[in-house]
Amino acid sequence: MRLFFALWPDAATRARIANAAVTLRLTGEARRVPAENYHLTLAFVGEVATSQLAVLQQIGRAQRATGCTINFDACEHWRETQVVVAAARQIPAALIELWTRLRQDLAPHQAALNPGHQHPSLRAHVTLARKVAQAPVLQAMSPFYWSVQSFSLVRSDTSGAHSVYTVVDTWPLLDKTPKPKKSLQFRCI
Ligand code: ATP
Ligand code: MG
Repeated sequence: MRLFFALWPDAATRARIANAAVTLRLTGEARRVPAENYHLTLAFVGEVATSQLAVLQQIGRAQRATGCTINFDACEHWRETQVVVAAARQIPAALIELWTRLRQDLAPHQAALNPGHQHPSLRAHVTLARKVAQAPVLQAMSPFYWSVQSFSLVRSDTSGAHSVYTVVDTWPLLDKTPKPKKSLQFRCI
């Protein structure tokens, strides 16, 4: 099976992404990503045997990053991959931590899982359209936010016209607002 770690949007976030994608004017071969496929890839794992799933789930379960809010404030055409993405110019430290730790934890297994695979640097983005050969005229995107409270291990089936993704497992991120310390109470007797 083909797997990757990703942030998976809830229904409200998915609707905000779809709303940002609505202004895109696409021509020719270009295809919109269906709303049910919106995601933010954290780490691509690749083809693995079913027997390796447990190792990946253990890596997911062991993460201790906090949640965060990502502001998507730019719409960009990436020529190399022929995609249009919603991108975040500022990446929250908590997201960088999750991304870094996942990679560190995957590294000892990566050679076996996906030989020769190189991880690109983090460019926090949600792909909105694919096969966009010509840079479209991009209108200013109406910015949207994504309040991230969990991350997932996702299975990808790329055999059809559109990839079909299935969430295999989801783990919560830690609460981003530190709990107020209990104040000591003194009682005069
Ligand atoms: P297709 O490759 O047929 O267009 P897809 O890209 O939707 O399908 P996958 O190739 O399984 O599906 O990729 C799943 C996710 O992982 C996508 O977000 C994709 O951009 C990302 N991804 C795929 N390959 C890599 C890679 N080598 N490095 C980093 N991210 C990757
Ligand atoms: Mg791909």
